[in-house]
Amino acid sequence: MIPESEHSRWYKGQRYELLGWAPYIRLDGSDTWLATWMSVCPVCGRGFLTTTSASPSRFQPNRRCREHHQPGHPVRWRAKTEEEGR
Ligand SMILES: [Zn+2]
Repeated sequence: MIPESEHSRWYKGQRYELLGWAPYIRLDGSDTWLATWMSVCPVCGRGFLTTTSASPSRFQPNRRCREHHQPGHPVRWRAKTEEEGR
């Protein structure tokens, strides 16, 4: 069964549109789903795709496109909303 979900979500002030679900098999062999989201990169303003696990409590998508993805570096222009999180 495909998990139920909203069609769009907000994460730290950034909007994500749900594009769809894809089946995924974990390393341990169990089945799950990955959600594909579209959002806009705060650095270049272009749309990009990212995936998250099916668990809504673990919604932690990439915030920038592949080109500007910098793990560990907070998005500067969204700094105010950073602490409001989730
Ligand atoms: Zn970018």
